[in-house]
Amino acid sequence: RQALQTVMVTGGAGFIGSAVCRHLIGTGNYRVVNLDKLTYAGNLASLRDIDGNSNYVFRQADICDTDCVRQILADEKVELIMHLAAESHVDRSIDGPMDFVTTNVVGTASLLSAALDHWRGLSEESRRGFRLHHVSTDEVFGDLPFDSGVFTEESPYKPSSPYSASKAASDHFVRAWHETYGLPVVLSNCSNNYGPYHFPEKLIPLVIANALDERPLPVYGKGANVRDWLFVEDHARALEAVLTKGKVGESYNIGGRAERTNLEVVETICSLLDACRPRAGGRSHLDLIAYVADRPGHDRRYAIDPTKSEVELGWAPRETFESGLEKTVDWYLANGWWWRPIRAQQFDGSRLGLVRSK
Ligand code: NAD
Repeated sequence: RQALQTVMVTGGAGFIGSAVCRHLIGTGNYRVVNLDKLTYAGNLASLRDIDGNSNYVFRQADICDTDCVRQILADEKVELIMHLAAESHVDRSIDGPMDFVTTNVVGTASLLSAALDHWRGLSEESRRGFRLHHVSTDEVFGDLPFDSGVFTEESPYKPSSPYSASKAASDHFVRAWHETYGLPVVLSNCSNNYGPYHFPEKLIPLVIANALDERPLPVYGKGANVRDWLFVEDHARALEAVLTKGKVGESYNIGGRAERTNLEVVETICSLLDACRPRAGGRSHLDLIAYVADRPGHDRRYAIDPTKSEVELGWAPRETFESGLEKTVDWYLANGWWWRPIRAQQFDGSRLGLVRSK
């Protein structure tokens, strides 16, 4: 039996990070150290399934605290890093961009500094096997026309929002630490994720929760903006593939080949709920749709070409958009214990005028 590899997952209490921790522990091949500051988006309840597992450790820390991160890397004898900790919500980045600069840009540079010191102190064999995997977004590439084009790994960076600009900057810093200091890094840029434990301010959980509570389903503009959607557990498997099979210094696009307009997403949720949770009086949930003023700088379309990940890493999504969305709706129906308390804290009604598209 092979020894377990120790992976530090930053942001492991968030939406994707918790799916990654659950996935890695589920494989039986890793010891997982979850490093998370526990901002409003971090929730240890999302790790209920693996809490208590002897191969899982939680360490509360801020990635901006270089000394603390360096100490944790040494104490936990970390061999691989998956970096997901970030401020992740586009609308929040429009309201308050500086938190995004601090965590996503400065925090990533701080983590890179700690990781470099740690890597330099490893044995030659461990240095060879070490990877820092930076988990990023397709939003760094800017937007595409409605009717043509896809993002490849060679697409130029053209971010539009403070969020995507901060992620673009962090991608550049990760590459710089590789080119300048030789730190072995891999990067991935993924499209919109959805699935269980998604914070209820984001589009899909917001629409499910509002529909269940008979509240308006707000849609930006005409709902014509297009996103590519990927089930979070498919992303978690892709990330393990990038970490273990990706070539050092390279980046991999990850996506579901599932482009949908925002309106199509909302309509699909309504028809799933109409089937399993009919409203009183036989009316459709579609009646709850309410169009609201568009988000400033709203990117028209993102579309990812995941061919490189499919061919080089042998990865493919298991869920279609429809099967993944059905699982997601079922999960929200069964797990009000997780999202209702968050929604009660975060939503006083005044924020409900907005649809969250990521
Ligand atoms: P999330 O907001 O749900 O989780 C972020 C986590 O990071 C939280 O647990 C939070 O507590 C933690 N965190 C924030 N600041 C921190 C700091 N300074 N130090 C330590 N921990 C900190 O985000 P998510 O949706 O799970 O996204 C995870 C990563 O994946 C992000 O880097 C994001 O840019 C990227 N990404 C997300 C999507 C998506 O659709 N959600 C798509 C592509 C890429």
